[in-house]
Amino acid sequence: MDLAAFERNLKRIQAALPAHMRYVAVVKADAYGHGMPQIVRRLMQSGVDCFAVANVSEAADIRHMGAGWPILVLSPLLPQEDYFLIQHDLTATVSTLDECERLNSLALAHSTIIKVHLKIDTGMGRLGVWHDSATELLAKISTYPALKLEGVYTHFSSADSDPSFTQIQRKRFLDVIATTTALPPELLIHADNSAGIDTLSSPSPFNAVRIGLLQFGIPPYPESALGRVAVEPVFSFHTRIGLIKELPAHTDISYARTHRLSRDSRIAILTAGYGDGVPLKLSNQGSVLIRGQRCAILGRVTMDQTIVDVTDCPEAKIGDHVVLIGKNAPNEITATEFSHTAQTIPWETLCSVTKRVTRVYV
Ligand code: PLP
Repeated sequence: MDLAAFERNLKRIQAALPAHMRYVAVVKADAYGHGMPQIVRRLMQSGVDCFAVANVSEAADIRHMGAGWPILVLSPLLPQEDYFLIQHDLTATVSTLDECERLNSLALAHSTIIKVHLKIDTGMGRLGVWHDSATELLAKISTYPALKLEGVYTHFSSADSDPSFTQIQRKRFLDVIATTTALPPELLIHADNSAGIDTLSSPSPFNAVRIGLLQFGIPPYPESALGRVAVEPVFSFHTRIGLIKELPAHTDISYARTHRLSRDSRIAILTAGYGDGVPLKLSNQGSVLIRGQRCAILGRVTMDQTIVDVTDCPEAKIGDHVVLIGKNAPNEITATEFSHTAQTIPWETLCSVTKRVTRVYV
């Protein structure tokens, strides 16, 4: 993990944001596989405004690292988790009247208040109150004495692929804001993620942006408001050659014999497989970098090993460093290319590198 690149990314993103725009750093799933403590520490040093995580356990980890920062829990809480909001001073996402009543009662019982953001479903079809009913719920929330409404937000389903649907969602969200009277003045209003379009537009009612992938140096959508910020990849994925063998033409390679050697070949067995996060979908598809050269993956990726062709890389030897994602001059395999070959998305790629893989910070 290139933490210096991460710090440069943060500075560039912060410089691109208008002064009033709050930076909500999305650090769920172990900071997208980068390691929560290391990433959160840099974010705290950089003066980020707020953290967003999936659940109370991730939120508690951040709270143990420092008091003061708002921490928004993006997923719904199970009733038995509600008390963590009070214990760790967290902010909940609410979508329903039931959740509001439950949290209000709990806060009253402990003579405290609970901070909430109302999520509005404008077309994601997941969390949030359906936009048609949002104004009503917003009015109701203001009547709960022990709830403090600190934000309203929505989430775009297709920010990186379908600008016209994003505009529909944006309009639905803005209509709710426009028709709700007496919103608290300090309210955070947010919709954009890394692929968002409104972050830099002015004037705009949005005053916060939830940034995940971009801070790790992977721009999901070049046309986004922040798409032109020059970010650098933080994450790279490496393994080594554990064994090299010569095999005759027509030998079958790996489970289910999905590849047959077309020539006498030199193969290298890499010490990483799907148990480490090398997707099975890379079987017979992807390549890796050895000594700066692309070497094709042969046969099925297995749990602990991946087999590659080094016939045309005669210098390759046991112990050689192998790049699955990252630079190996003069070549590079980006997380985006790797994900594309594996028929997945960079978000999943980053979260799928398992605990078995040692995270090295430079
Ligand atoms: N907001 C919500 C609700 C999310 O679920 C996510 C990521 O999954 C983000 C923001 C951050 O998105 P991105 O990583 O594309 O910036």
